[in-house]
Amino acid sequence: MSEAIEDRSKYFDPKEISKIEQSFNLRYIGTDKGFLMLEFPGNNRPRRREAAIPIDAAFEILEAIDRGAERMEEHEGWIDPQRGFAEFEVRQHRLNALRSSTIDQFTFEFHQCTHAHAFNPPFAHHEDGDLLSTVVRVTSSDGSTCIEISPNSPLCSPLLPEYADRERAHTQTTLKVYFSGPRDKADLIQKSRELASSFLFELNVRHRCPYSLRPRMESPSYRRQEAPISRTVRFPKTSVPENIAALFSIPSDSTLRGNHTLSYLSYYQILEHYLPAVHKRETVRKVRRILRSLDFDDKRDASVLQILNSVERSHGASESEQLRALLEECVPEGKLREFFSMDHGVHFGKNGPISGIPAINPKSGQSLASQAAKRIYMLRNRIVHAKDDVRYAESKVLLPLSHEALRLSPDIELLRLLAIEVIVDNQ
Ligand SMILES: [Zn+2]
Repeated sequence: MSEAIEDRSKYFDPKEISKIEQSFNLRYIGTDKGFLMLEFPGNNRPRRREAAIPIDAAFEILEAIDRGAERMEEHEGWIDPQRGFAEFEVRQHRLNALRSSTIDQFTFEFHQCTHAHAFNPPFAHHEDGDLLSTVVRVTSSDGSTCIEISPNSPLCSPLLPEYADRERAHTQTTLKVYFSGPRDKADLIQKSRELASSFLFELNVRHRCPYSLRPRMESPSYRRQEAPISRTVRFPKTSVPENIAALFSIPSDSTLRGNHTLSYLSYYQILEHYLPAVHKRETVRKVRRILRSLDFDDKRDASVLQILNSVERSHGASESEQLRALLEECVPEGKLREFFSMDHGVHFGKNGPISGIPAINPKSGQSLASQAAKRIYMLRNRIVHAKDDVRYAESKVLLPLSHEALRLSPDIELLRLLAIEVIVDNQ
């Protein structure tokens, strides 16, 4: 990087630094060879994790922030309302036909537009070498709106990890939507998301070129809570059915890392597996209690009806009631108390990041097993039921790889604890 840029870094004032810090949820460390160095917050990490942004990109980001641009909440990317511009980071799922060796075979719907585009289809040349990136752009017939997939603008500069070779130019692919002029923020987000979704859908359907928008990742500000590990490896004593062992291993499978809803459902299926047996045991226990009661008389209809009622009630128990019974029977209340007394930030509270499911309040007077059962069951419904199912109309579907799904970790950790307790209790 040139000296001139290094000099410009001296003009960052504390206010500007704090604007950058706030936008990225990162902490400023300093500048180094043309890069603004930042670190991820959290003192509990074994090592500091750094991220670098080129200083010239940081200047453009600051200018954008000053005219009202901001990062999107649900996706990785930026909106710039004054310029009527939105930029989404995208994932490209496999070698697709719009790669550099075959992009020449495609034509792109072109109309005269008024935007200043940095690149034109089909290629963008990088400044520092002969590396080529592909550029896809289509324009609406009135020339007002363009959708483009191309290397990032300065706003979406990749945050480079400390080991990255910073001599080399780094880019990432982004989807950009250009409107004809300033737009209201909410309208800009909605319209650009609609256009991005339609375009990516058609690219997949018509050309088998799959891309998806990257949901916004947040480095958790709380420390991840996990039970301490044992240092003694023993000959196994826990007998566990093979299918249960297989289900239990799924969330830890590194090839599935990041698939939070699948992790959730795998642990949930373990609980489900034990529901019928525990339910039967519970029913038998209740009937036995009636039979043993001192005033039970098999010659009296009232006594026999008591048994019938008890069995009928148990027969009609919903999955959520069965789940509560399972937790009450198999999970010691102390384990739940211990789990919820750990610091999970706001996750299980009323303002937690997962909407449409009940909070857990250890002081509410309701048993933790009963509160946990309700939360777990409703969350499961949000994952498995489609939105238009009238029974679950109040809760919208929670999609894999969505912004919410990426924040499920504490709920998954809770389910893991419950699955372990239930397996151990049912040997
Ligand atoms: Zn254009």
